[in-house]
Amino acid sequence: MSTEEPRRRKFVADAMLKNLVSWLRILGYDTIYWSGGDREVIGIAEAEDRIILTMDRGLAAAAARRGLKVLLFHENNIPGILARMANELGLSLSFDPRSTRCPVCNHPLRLEHRSGREEWMCPGCDKKYWRGSHWRNISRALEEARRKLTGSPR
Ligand SMILES: [Zn+2]
Repeated sequence: MSTEEPRRRKFVADAMLKNLVSWLRILGYDTIYWSGGDREVIGIAEAEDRIILTMDRGLAAAAARRGLKVLLFHENNIPGILARMANELGLSLSFDPRSTRCPVCNHPLRLEHRSGREEWMCPGCDKKYWRGSHWRNISRALEEARRKLTGSPR
């Protein structure tokens, strides 16, 4: 596997990892959230070639039996999860303004420059985004994830 994986991996996260979904979208990964039964999550992963992200041991085992790629997490800790995904899947931990998705609807965002300011437009749900006060929290969490990454043995 190449060390720099382009943003073409797709994910389906279970209900317990709902907060992870917007993070992966911000990082540019096509990610959906599914609150249905195990069978439905497995069906979606198979049909759409998505990697399953779950905290459910039973779902992880069932998916693995079907030969699907699945990551089982034991705690919902965003920097920890992102660091592990970077280690195991080559997930990129840096924000790319030209390759980011709407945290709400998963549609790829369009970058626009308005009076010297970067702004993102969502053609899917018409929302607009810019680097507001929440941006500091996002950068901080990504930094923490990168620190965990370099501190890991791999
Ligand atoms: Zn949207």
